[in-house]
Amino acid sequence: MIIEKITIKLTVFVFLLLSFNPLAYSEQLVDKQTLMVYIPSVFIALVLPFLLFTIHRLRRSRKQLRVSEHRLKSTVEGSGDTLWDWNIGSGEVLRINDKYMMDRNTQTDFPPNRSLIHPNDISSVELLLKQHFAEQTAFFEASYRIKDSFDRWRWVLDRGKIIEKDASLNPLRMTGTVRDITLLKSTEARLNLFAKCVESLTDALAIYDKNFNLVDLNPSFLSQFGGNRENYLNKPFTLQGYEESYIEEIKNTVRRTEHWQQEVKLRNSDRKVLPIEISIDEIKNEYNQICNYVVVFSDLTERKKAESQLHNLSNRDRTTGLPNRNLFFTDLKKLAKQDDHHALLVFDLDNFKKINDSLGHQLGDSLLAKLAMRLNKLTREKDVFYRLGGDEFALVMSGTNDIHTITRMAKQFLAAIATPFKMAGHELVITSSLGIVLFPEDGNTPELLLKNADTAMYHAKKKGNSYLFFNDTMNRQAVKRLQIENLMRFGLKEDHFEVYYQPKMNIRTGKFTGMEALVRFITPKKGIISPGVFIPIAEETGQIIEIGEVVLNKACRDVKEWLDAGLFNGRVAVNLSAKQFSLPDLTTRIDVILQKNALPSYFLELEITEGTVMDDPQDAISIMRSLSARGIHLAMDDFGTGYSSLAYLKQFPLNTLKVDKAFIDDMENERGRNMVDSIVTIAHNLDLHVVAEGVEEAQQIAILEQLNCETMQGYYYSKPLSKTEFTAFLQKQLNESAPSLIHQA
Ligand code: C2E
Ligand code: CA
Ligand code: CA
Repeated sequence: MIIEKITIKLTVFVFLLLSFNPLAYSEQLVDKQTLMVYIPSVFIALVLPFLLFTIHRLRRSRKQLRVSEHRLKSTVEGSGDTLWDWNIGSGEVLRINDKYMMDRNTQTDFPPNRSLIHPNDISSVELLLKQHFAEQTAFFEASYRIKDSFDRWRWVLDRGKIIEKDASLNPLRMTGTVRDITLLKSTEARLNLFAKCVESLTDALAIYDKNFNLVDLNPSFLSQFGGNRENYLNKPFTLQGYEESYIEEIKNTVRRTEHWQQEVKLRNSDRKVLPIEISIDEIKNEYNQICNYVVVFSDLTERKKAESQLHNLSNRDRTTGLPNRNLFFTDLKKLAKQDDHHALLVFDLDNFKKINDSLGHQLGDSLLAKLAMRLNKLTREKDVFYRLGGDEFALVMSGTNDIHTITRMAKQFLAAIATPFKMAGHELVITSSLGIVLFPEDGNTPELLLKNADTAMYHAKKKGNSYLFFNDTMNRQAVKRLQIENLMRFGLKEDHFEVYYQPKMNIRTGKFTGMEALVRFITPKKGIISPGVFIPIAEETGQIIEIGEVVLNKACRDVKEWLDAGLFNGRVAVNLSAKQFSLPDLTTRIDVILQKNALPSYFLELEITEGTVMDDPQDAISIMRSLSARGIHLAMDDFGTGYSSLAYLKQFPLNTLKVDKAFIDDMENERGRNMVDSIVTIAHNLDLHVVAEGVEEAQQIAILEQLNCETMQGYYYSKPLSKTEFTAFLQKQLNESAPSLIHQA
C-alpha cells in the first residue's frame, strides 16, 4: 500500500515537472503548438499505463480487504464474541457483533458501559482496568455481569489490551473481546454447589475408580474413620473386619446390579463399633462406560437410638418398665416360628383388686412396680418377663422344655410373690397361681398359647398358690418330681441312701482291681429309686451335695472296715457331682470325711464328668491339683460324651479315663472299634489308665484286650453290689487269689 502511494505521488510529480518546467519552455524554445501535442503524448505514453495499473491494484486490494473484513466478521460472529475498539480519549467505542447492544448509552463512563455492569462487579472491573493502564498486567481480563437488552444479567468474560499510547505513554486506544460465559458460569456454580454439598455432607463419602481404587473422599470420611487422606488414596476398597471374599461379593453385586446397600459394623476413629449403612452406586461417563463408584457410609447410631426409643414407647409398660402386651405378641410370634422348645408362664395376683380399692391406685401401681423388679431379677438371661395388663404377667422362657428348669422357676416366682411387701406402713401379702404351657407342644399361635396358659392358671388357682402345666403329662411329671424331692428330703433325714459297689477287673489277668461306689435310694414305700431318676432332681435342688457327702462318708467307712479286715487295699471310686465340685470348701469337706473315718486319701479316687470340668477349665485345674496333691486319684467319667478339649485333657492332673458305655456298645462295628482304639491310644499317650464302662459281653472283653485297654467294669463281671454282697465278693476274691491282696495298678 505504502509503495503504491509513493509511486502515485512520484508519477504526478514527474508529470507536473515535465508539463510546467519554465526552463523547458525557454531553453528548447518549443513553440506552443508543439507543446500542446507534446505534453498529452508524454502523459499518455509515460503515466497512463502506470495509472491504469495502479487503479487496478487499488481495486484488487479493496476487494481483498472486503473479503478479509467479511471473513473476520464471520469469524467474530461465529465465535459469538463481541469485538470492541475503545478510543480512550474520546470515550468512543466501536463494537462488532454487539449482542448485548452495549451501544445504548453514550460512552463517557469509566469503565465503558459502567451503567450496564452489575453494581457488585463495577469495583473489580475498574480495578482490573486501572491495573492494566498502570502496566501491572499484560492483559485486561475481567468476568462480570452485564445487563442485556432484555434487562437480564449475563456473565461475560471481557479481555483486552492497550494498542496505542501517546508520547507520554498515556493510553490512547484499547481493543478486546467480550465473551458470554453465562452458561459456563452456571455450570461452574452447579459444580461448586455439588462440591460444597459433598464437602459438608455428614455422611462419609468415597469415590473409587472403575477398579475400586480410592480416588477421593470427603472430610466426613476422615472424621468418621480417622487417618489422613494420603493413607486412603489409591488403596483398594475394603471394609475393616470383613473378609476378602465378602468384599469381592460386594464388588460383583455392584457390577451386576449397579447398586449395593447393606448395614455393616465398622469401627470409627475411637475404635467404637458402629452400625453403618453402606450404599455403593456406579457412575458412567458420556459413552455409557463405568468410570467410577461412589460409596456412602451413613452412621445409623442415632437413627437406631431414636428407633429404639420409639420402640420402647410403644412396647414398654410405663408403671413397671416391663415389655408390654404388644411386644409379648410380637415376640411370641417370632418364637413360635423357631424350631425350638419354649415355655410360657402366666399368672395374675389373687385379690389385687381389693388392694387397689382399699389402698388406692397409686399404691397399687408401686406394688406392681416392686413386684416386677423382684421377679425380673430371678429370670435367666434369655427369659423375658412381660406385663400383659392390670395384674397379669407372663414369663417366656426360650429354648427350654426342661421340666426341672421350668418348675424351679415357677416355684421361685411363687415364693417371691408370697414374700410380704412393706409399703406405706403396710405389710402387704399377695399370692398367685401360675399356668404353664410349652410350645410348640401346647399350641402354635400366641393366642392359643395364652388361652391354654390361662386355662392352666385357672385350675392352679383352685389349688391355691401353686403352678400347673396345661399338659397333663407334664403335670404328672411335675408331681412326681415334687414327690421325689420331698422323698429325698425325708430320705436324707431317715438315712435311706445306701452305697452299692461295682467291682472293676483287670482284663488281662481277670483279677479284681477296685470298685466304684454307686448310690442307691431305698425308700420304705416305693422301693429302690434309680440314680438316673433322682440324681438330676437332686442336682437341680442342690440336695446332691448332702447326698454326695453321705455316699463319700459311707464309702470311706466301708473301705476302712474292709481294709482293717484285710479284705481290700485298693481304691474306691466315688462320683463327684458338678455342684459338689464347685463348692469352695470341697477339699476341706473331703479332708474332714477322710479324717473322721481314719482313711488315708490314698484309698480314694474321685470320678468327675467332662461337663463338670469343662465349665471353667482353669478353675477346674486348680481344684484338681489340690485334690491330686493329697494323693487322691482322679478319673474322667463318661469320656467321649461331652466336649473335652485335648489341649485341656493334657493339663488336667488325671489318672484314669473311663470310656463311656455308648462306645463299648458301638464296638460291634469297625468304626466303633476304631473309636475306642483312638481313645485308648490318646489315654496311653497322656499316661492315663483306661477303664471300659458297661461291659456286658465276653466278645467285648476280647476286643478291649486287643486294644490294650487294661480295666473293665460292667455286668459281665458284676452288677453293683450292696455292702453285704460286696463283703462276700471280697472274701471270695481273697480265697481265690490268696495269699496276695489285690492292688490296683
Ligand atoms: P456312672 O457313674 O457312669 O455309673 C455307671 C452306671 O452304669 C451305674 O448306673 C451302673 O450301675 C451302670 N452299669 C455298670 N455296668 C453296667 C452294664 O454292664 N450295663 C448297664 N446297662 N449298666 C451298667 P447307676 O448306678 O444307675 O448310676 C447312674 C449314674 O448315676 C452314674 O453313672 C452316675 O452318673 C450317677 N451316680 C451314681 N451314684 C452316684 C453318686 O454317688 N454321686 C453322684 N454324683 N452321681 C452318682
Ligand atoms: Ca461314675
Ligand atoms: Ca460313667
